[in-house]
Amino acid sequence: MAKTPRKLKKARARHAKSCEGKQAHKSKKEAEEVARKMRAERGRRNLSAYACQSCGKWHLGNRR
Ligand SMILES: [Zn+2]
Repeated sequence: MAKTPRKLKKARARHAKSCEGKQAHKSKKEAEEVARKMRAERGRRNLSAYACQSCGKWHLGNRR
């Protein structure tokens, strides 16, 4: 089960691609502002801003 490094590589590529369709914010402040609104309006309590490794911008995602 642990001998699947190629699968990992594939998963990473998919992640980088998926970030294209996501809303990107140019700063943490901006992303957190949107996250705060969504938490208040939609009850998305797990929503948090994170710096994207692929595009260098900020996205909103579920905290783990
Ligand atoms: Zn990204």
